[in-house]
Amino acid sequence: MLLLKRVLLDGHQVDILVDKNRFAQIADEIKPDNLMQVMDCDGKAILPSFANMHTHASMMFLRGIGEDKDLFSWLQTEIWPREAKLNEDYVYHLSRFAVLEMIKSGTTLFNDMYFYENATIRAVDEMGIRAMIPHLFMDFFDDAKTSEHIVIAEQFLNTPVPCDRIIKGLACHAIYTTSQRAFQSAHDLAKKYNTYLHVHISETQQEVTDCIAKYAVRPIELLDKWGVLDRNTLLAHAVHLNDDERYIVHNAGASLIHCPASNMKLNSGAFNLQCCLDSRLPIALGTDGVSSNNSLSMLSEMKIAALLAKESAKSECAGAVCDVFDAATRTGFAVAGLNGGQIQVGCLADFILVDLNNVFLMPGYNIKSDIIYSADTSCIRDVFCNGVPVMRNGIVKDEDSIRENFRKVCTQLF
Ligand SMILES: [Zn+2]
Repeated sequence: MLLLKRVLLDGHQVDILVDKNRFAQIADEIKPDNLMQVMDCDGKAILPSFANMHTHASMMFLRGIGEDKDLFSWLQTEIWPREAKLNEDYVYHLSRFAVLEMIKSGTTLFNDMYFYENATIRAVDEMGIRAMIPHLFMDFFDDAKTSEHIVIAEQFLNTPVPCDRIIKGLACHAIYTTSQRAFQSAHDLAKKYNTYLHVHISETQQEVTDCIAKYAVRPIELLDKWGVLDRNTLLAHAVHLNDDERYIVHNAGASLIHCPASNMKLNSGAFNLQCCLDSRLPIALGTDGVSSNNSLSMLSEMKIAALLAKESAKSECAGAVCDVFDAATRTGFAVAGLNGGQIQVGCLADFILVDLNNVFLMPGYNIKSDIIYSADTSCIRDVFCNGVPVMRNGIVKDEDSIRENFRKVCTQLF
C-alpha cells in the first residue's frame, strides 16, 4: 500500500491511501503502518492524470514534416508515402518515445489508431501506462484487403492482452479510405468481442461534401445507415455536425473526441464544444498525432479547447474550466469504460503530483484553471498509473535509451 501524506486535494491538505491499483481512503489524517510505503507530498497537489482519447502515437517521426498544407494533400504527399517505410521494430521504438512524451505531460491513458498494433502493445506494457489499441481497417475499397483485415482483426482480438492496462479494440480510418463492408465487419467484431470501434468522421467540410455526393447523406447519417453507430463507437473530430447528426449521435449513445489543435492547424473547421456539451454528448479530448499538433501534451490541448470553445460559441462563458478539465480526465476514462480520471475512493489510482512552488502554478487560487491556462510540463513532478509510479521527480525509467533509439529510427526513416 502507498500512503500519500499531506497532499493538496481540492484546496485541502489530506492523506490518501492507495491499495493495489485503486484509491482506498482519503482522510484528514491516516496513520501509517509498516505495510505502507509513505510518500511525503507537502508542497504538492494531486490531480487525476489525463486521457488522450485520439492519437496516432507512432507518428512521432513526422513531427514538423509537411507544415502548412491542407488535410488531403498533407496525407497524400507527406504522410502516407513516409508511413509506407515503417515496420514492427520502428513502431515499437516510436511508440516508446510517444509514451515517454505522454508520461512527461501527465497522460496515463491513450486511445491509439495506427499500424503494427502489437509493437505498440509491447511498448505500453513495458512502460506502465494504459492504452486502447485497435486493429486498424484501412482497405482503400479493395475487397481482398477487407477480407485480410477481418482475419487479422479476429486473430488480434483472440490473443490475450499482456496486462490489465491494455484494451484491445477496432478502428476504421475514415469513410473516404475505408469501405462499407470494412466498417460493418469491424462493427460486428466489436460487438462480438464486446469492445469499441474508433473512427475519424466529419473532420473537414470536404469530407461532408464528398460524402453527400457519393452516398446522398451526411457522414453521421451514413454511419447510422450502415448500422455501425452505438455506445461503443468513438467518433474522432466530428467537427461538421448539424443538429440532426448531434441527435443521431445522442440517440446512439456514441462518444465524441474533440481534437482542437489538429483541427485548427489543418484548418479543418471549428468544433463547437459548448453546443455539444449543451446537447449532453459525452466529449473527450485528444491531441491527434504529432504531425498535426505537434505535441502530445494534454495541457496545451485543454487550453486550446477552452479558448476555441469561447470563440466558436461567441461566449466567454463557454468551455468552462470544469467542463474542459472533465473532458481531459473523467470523460476520457469513462469513454474507455474505466472508473478513473477522478481522485475518489474506489477509482483507479492514475494521478499526477504537481509542484505548487512552480511559478506557473502560483499563487494557486484555482488549480484546475492554472493547469489549463498557465501550467507547462515542468509543473508535473510525479505520474502514477494503476497505483505504480511511471515518473518520479521528473524522471522516467530508461528515458535516455528511449531517446537514443528514437533518434536512430528517425535517421533510418529519412
Ligand atoms: Zn487522427
